[in-house]
This record gives sequence, C-alpha cells and structure tokens, in this order.
Amino acid sequence: MRLLGWLGLLCSLMAPAAALNREAFTITRYDLEVRLEPQQQRLGARGKITLRNDSAQPQKVAALQISSSLNWRSIRVDGKAVQFVSQPYISDIDHTGALSEAIVTLPVEIKPKDSVELEIGYEGVIPLDATRLIRVGVPEEIAKHTSWDQISASFTAVRGAGYVAWYPIVTESADFSEGNSLFEVVDRWKKREQDASMKLSLGTDAGIDDAHLKLLCSGVGNNIDTREGSAHFHGAVCEYERLGSVTPTLAIADYNQNQSKPPLYLFSLLGHEAGAATYSNTLDPAMKFVTGWFGQPTAPIAIVDLADPHSAPFESGNLLMASMAAEDSKLAGINLVHELVHSALPSSRPWVYEGLAHFAEALYRQEQGGRQAALDFLGLHRAAFLDSEKEASAAPQKSAGQPLAVTFDETYYRSKAAYVWWMLRDMVGDDALKQAIRKYRAEDDKDPKYVEQLIESAAKRDLSWFFDDWVYQDRGLPDFHVQSVHPWKTEKEVQFVTVTLENLGNAGAEVPFTILFEGGEITRRIEVRTKGTATTRVELPGTAKEIVVNDGSVPESDLTNNSLKVSAPSE
Ligand SMILES: [Zn+2]
Repeated sequence: MRLLGWLGLLCSLMAPAAALNREAFTITRYDLEVRLEPQQQRLGARGKITLRNDSAQPQKVAALQISSSLNWRSIRVDGKAVQFVSQPYISDIDHTGALSEAIVTLPVEIKPKDSVELEIGYEGVIPLDATRLIRVGVPEEIAKHTSWDQISASFTAVRGAGYVAWYPIVTESADFSEGNSLFEVVDRWKKREQDASMKLSLGTDAGIDDAHLKLLCSGVGNNIDTREGSAHFHGAVCEYERLGSVTPTLAIADYNQNQSKPPLYLFSLLGHEAGAATYSNTLDPAMKFVTGWFGQPTAPIAIVDLADPHSAPFESGNLLMASMAAEDSKLAGINLVHELVHSALPSSRPWVYEGLAHFAEALYRQEQGGRQAALDFLGLHRAAFLDSEKEASAAPQKSAGQPLAVTFDETYYRSKAAYVWWMLRDMVGDDALKQAIRKYRAEDDKDPKYVEQLIESAAKRDLSWFFDDWVYQDRGLPDFHVQSVHPWKTEKEVQFVTVTLENLGNAGAEVPFTILFEGGEITRRIEVRTKGTATTRVELPGTAKEIVVNDGSVPESDLTNNSLKVSAPSE
C-alpha cells in the first residue's frame, strides 16, 4: 500500500512534465531592453514577451528557453512573480548544446488562441562556445570558424535563434547528430515566429571613451539604426515589425564606416582597409547590374566585418557578416549583388527574397564568365537539397516535403529557389522575366499565385504546371533520360534525328538537350512533364553522334543516365 501510495505521488508529480507541450505557445511579441558588457562578456535583458497558445488544449504551464550560459532572474505576470523551475535542457539549437529552461506555472490556464504577457529578466555571459559542433566530432579549430558568436572585450557578434538563444525561444530539443533534426526544429521555430514582432533597445557600457565603437543590430527594411548617444553610452534600437525569416543579430566593435556609399554601409575592422576598399570599388558595376534586372536598390544594406578571417559568412535580411581580411573582388561582387537585390526587391516570401538574390549571383557569374560558369556556380547549390528531395520523390503523395511557397528551410528557399528562378528565366527569356520582376510589389504579394501570374502575363504562357511541381508542392526532382534517338534522311539527303526524352521523376521541367554531330552541336529545349515522354525532330547539318540531355540548368536526381550514343542512320 505504502509503495503504491509513493508511486501515485511520484506519478502525479511527474505528470505535468510528461504532459508538457513545449511548442504549444508561440512568442508573438518581444519588447526587450538588452544591456551588453563586453569586458565581462555579459548580457542582461529585461522586458516583456507575449505568449499565444497555438495548441488545441488550454495550457497552464509554459517552457521558456535561453542559452545555457544565461540564467533566469525573474518572471512575472500582471506585476506578480510567478512560480518557475529552472532546469538545463539539452538541445543543439544553441551553440552551447544546451538551454536554460524555465518551466513556468501560469496564474491561470490560457485557452487556445488566447495570449498572456510575461515580464521577464535574465542575464549571464556569452563566451565563444563550439560545444555542439565539437560534440559531433568537428575539430575545435574548425568549429570555432563556424561557431563564432561571442561577447568579448575586443569583438562581439551574436546571432539569434539557431545559433545563440540570447532572447527567449520555445522549442523541442534539437539534435545535430540526428540527420536533419536540428534544422527541422529551427525551421519549425522560424515558421511559428514569422509574424512575431520584436523591439530591441540595446545599450553597452563598452568603449566609454571610444568614439569609433559601433553597436549594430539587424532588421528587416530600414535595418540599421546606430545611435551614438552621449560619449559614455552607445546604443541602438532595432525593430522588426515581422520577423519573417530574419535572425536577430547584434555586433559591437571598433568599426570604420568611412568606405560606405549609401545604400551600402560598410563596417570594417582595423587592418582590413584594403578588403573594405575592394567592396567599395566593386559597388558600381554590381549596382548597374542589379538595377538592370531588379530595379534601383534604395533600402540600406550592411556588410559587417568579422574579426576571425576564417569565419564562415552569415547573412540575415539585408545584413551580411563576412570577414574583409581578403581582397577578393570576385567574391565582393557576388556578395554585393546578393545584398543589392535585397535592397531593390523586398519581399516577405523567403523563396522570392532569397531565391532571387541567389539567382542574381548566378546571373552575375554568367555575365562575367559565361553560361557554364553560372551553371557550375548553381551546381554548388544542388548538393544542398539533393538528398532531402530524394525522400520527397520517393513519397510524392505525402504532404511532407518542403513546398517552396511556404518553406522556412534555407536549403530550399535559397538553393532550390535559385534554380527555380533560373529555369523560369530559361523558359520565358530575360525580357519577360525582367518585366515580371519589375512589376513585383511586396505589398501586392498576398495570393500565393501572384508571382506565377506576373510571369505568365509577361511571358504570355501557361506556367501553372511548373509552379505546381516546383513552388506550390514539393514533388522532388525530375530524372531525365534519352529514351530513343532515331536518325534518318530525306530523299534529298537532309539529315534529321527524332529524339524521345523521358522524365522518370515527379516534377516536370523544360530541359535543354544537345545533339553532337560531326562538325558541331545543336541545343534545343523541350518540355517533359512528370512521368512523361516528349518527342521532337531536329534537322542536322551532319551525322548525329551523341545526345546529351540537361546542361545542369535543371536540378535532377540522377545525372548518370543523361546521354546516349547514336547508332548509324537507317537507310
Ligand atoms: Zn540574402
């Protein structure tokens, strides 16, 4: 009896934890005052957050998470302290590989769709920490170049959710070693938070006598608001009306801004003057190119230097963080083109906003090095989504997959989207696509079919099948092969080949194919729909030797079955 009684007690004690639905609440609003003390590597924050119950059940308990190197100090509702238990929560969503989680018992149950406002306070340190990478076997020296977030006396740069939980998040545990689990958790978080608003008031005691010290934070639209207040205080206010796919990020350093040329703001570190000049000197051609395709860039963009020359670059909204240690004009050009597209073409749809910027990088490569250089450049993107698309191809009926129109997965809205824009351009031509892009207005982009309609009306062509396969649904990738080639001659000795291409995949595309013949080659394009075949006839000035389908401009699941040698013509 006694044992049973104990068990009963244990069960009731454990019940709330077991029933805890960590992703029941969405944080819809942040209003935080953040104090940074680089000498002590400290961050202290206080302010208000609003939690909305997005689950179907009433919720009495909420989990709030911050980086494991930060600690909860107070949580209040309606001016009264509420009960909470603070515990470590292992999750690779933070660079330390763990979170400080506050399990908060709310004064009243929050009904589905209802919200509650919490006053919160937390503080701690944010030192360089690559634990989550080192734990999965990445050598420390390499891990540091990727996991560079830190607050320190000489250099401070901290990225938000997915890197460092320096503002509260609410997520299930993410695991780096389990395939895509980490990215799934981060994508889910971003999707839930896309409409959240954030207001940050940042201040630092660093550099009391330092006139060059800059405190920067990222944001959508007019993103940089650097205010050097009194000589004793540096502050910045960042507001995000809607987070979208942006990762709130901050930086503090002795930045030199002398090489800025609006709308480009360059923040470079001492010793990197030549690298900053490379950006500055590359601006004019990049600006001209972007204006020709996407319209005049007007919104400010910022490129912010990183102290470690080997740091992996990071981009969020119209802020790019990349080391300016090297003088690489090719890289500077590509980076500028990307950011200037953001400046010219705001959009709340990640596949439009980022997809077009990556597409523009490839276009710029073509302008400088020809089509093959651009396709090689795009090819670097292909690997990013190839494996996950194989899963989507294997189960095309499943609602799984990542439709471009709604995805928050970077590999899709960056890499796959770049290809989709490239294919559209190959299908409708430069003029029609430019015309459609010029007509694009973020504020008019409410219907998911808006982009399709713009391009269709510019190109006077039905593209609904293409958008269905590539944008509205995730049907995986096509897989082309040459089903048959039949060379023949007319009575007047004019040579032809009849070509039949088959698409074994679940996404249709218009694909180029090249016929190699004695003395040259001819390239044509043909639409091959899902699980279908298409046949065409091509006149040749010589005898056909080989046919190759897809020059790499259509991302395909299998590129090994794309050519066929042609046997002698039948008489
Ligand atoms: Zn971008």
